Amino acid sequence: MTTKDTKDSERVAKAIEMAKKAHEGQLRKTGEPYIVHPLAVKKILEEWGMDEDTVIAGILHDTVEDTALTLDEIRKEFGESVAFLVDGVTKLSNARSGMRDIDTYLPETKDNFLRLMIALGDDIRVLIIKLADRLHNIRTLSALPPDKQKKVAKETLEVFAPLADRLNMGLLRVELADLSFKYVDEKRYNELKTLIEKYNKSAEKSLKKVEQEFSTALKKEKIHFALSGRVKSVYSLHKKLAKHNQNINEIYDLIALRIIVNDITDCYLTLGIIHSLYTPMGGRIKDYIAKPKQNGYQSLHTTVITKDKRVVEFQIRTKEMHEYAERGLAASFYYNEQKVTENYKKGKIEHLPTNLLWITELQMAAAKLREGKKVDLKKLKLNLFADKIFVYTPKGDIIDLPKGALPLDFAYRLHSEIGDHVIGVKINGKMSNLNKKLEQGDIVEILTSKNQTPRTSWLGKIFTPHARQKLTRRLNILSGNNQNNSQNKSK
Ligand code: MN
Repeated sequence: MTTKDTKDSERVAKAIEMAKKAHEGQLRKTGEPYIVHPLAVKKILEEWGMDEDTVIAGILHDTVEDTALTLDEIRKEFGESVAFLVDGVTKLSNARSGMRDIDTYLPETKDNFLRLMIALGDDIRVLIIKLADRLHNIRTLSALPPDKQKKVAKETLEVFAPLADRLNMGLLRVELADLSFKYVDEKRYNELKTLIEKYNKSAEKSLKKVEQEFSTALKKEKIHFALSGRVKSVYSLHKKLAKHNQNINEIYDLIALRIIVNDITDCYLTLGIIHSLYTPMGGRIKDYIAKPKQNGYQSLHTTVITKDKRVVEFQIRTKEMHEYAERGLAASFYYNEQKVTENYKKGKIEHLPTNLLWITELQMAAAKLREGKKVDLKKLKLNLFADKIFVYTPKGDIIDLPKGALPLDFAYRLHSEIGDHVIGVKINGKMSNLNKKLEQGDIVEILTSKNQTPRTSWLGKIFTPHARQKLTRRLNILSGNNQNNSQNKSK
């Protein structure tokens, strides 16, 4: 494991000097010198165990946008990788300021913004810097005027907390969500916070007993374990209550106990022991070890009724799963680095859900970088997004399409009504034709006419199966030979 010494490396110290000079004279809304902010971001990134280039980029993340410092100067001093990261963070901020008023694009287009972040942050470390930036801003949000507080908090709740969740950064998700929720709806926040505290207090004694019971049983079976406390997030309780008609009796994970064991076998043994002590509730056993969640989260969950009739959720996992659940992607940069490298050398790829393979790729790249080996980041980016382009509607909505997509694919993607009535296309404001391949970042405007009908020749101007399917169906209906097909479909 990397030793994180308290002293800054020479490069980091140099970056701090550079940032101090650049931000000289600027103040934060809190009245402090501006440099306090980038230094706080640096500290967060270090706590997350990020690599040195990311830490340096964190220190410099606001310089290109807000000071006279240029990207070229940064590149010259710290190299391509740092410059790339700072540029990515800057682009993200610029893209955001293009959307002037947060209220006008939230919450309807939050997925859109999420996609935008992913499109622009094609080195995942850009997103991690952005998350650290947001975490510090939300921690110091009280310095902003109330109307602005609400907007930033809302955006954090709608965009940044879900992003943290997507990267399985559990601790960050909870902190971002709860800090923001307090600003969005303070009364509700306080209500629920009190409720959780009361509930925990009332359960304290019986939980102690439960702890004793299963501890004895686990020791008897020679299973080594540790307990980890878990505080229910106020915001997630709020969301769950909304889903269950505000009926608190339907929330089964108000009290949860986490048991951390050595390996997967012990996870299942522990589950068995818990079930021999208490009655499991039907349908509440979840095996996220065999079937990890989309974000890679792994654990066994079970809800049981204790001897004094309390509902308690148990979460059982290995230390590694625990680290990954709390710190997610950041943890994989730090913790799994050696193991992944080892396994990689042995040709043994970590068991990860396929949609997380890109994380493995990043882990490997991070590990290689630490070993001082060269990694072609450009190639890495290509691997991550090789098959995708992101294009825009004139209103600024982002549509992701496979590389090679054509205007008709875009049109059918918007709506089949639009696809069926295409008479032309403007790309980046200029008339173009339907054979033109769309490129990353194109602004695409589809021209339609009510009198237009789909043509067979369009089949040669389509790339995606989705659009092909829609067009074929439409052509079949028009030519009247779809009777059998449509009958089958309607079943
Ligand atoms: Mn910042």
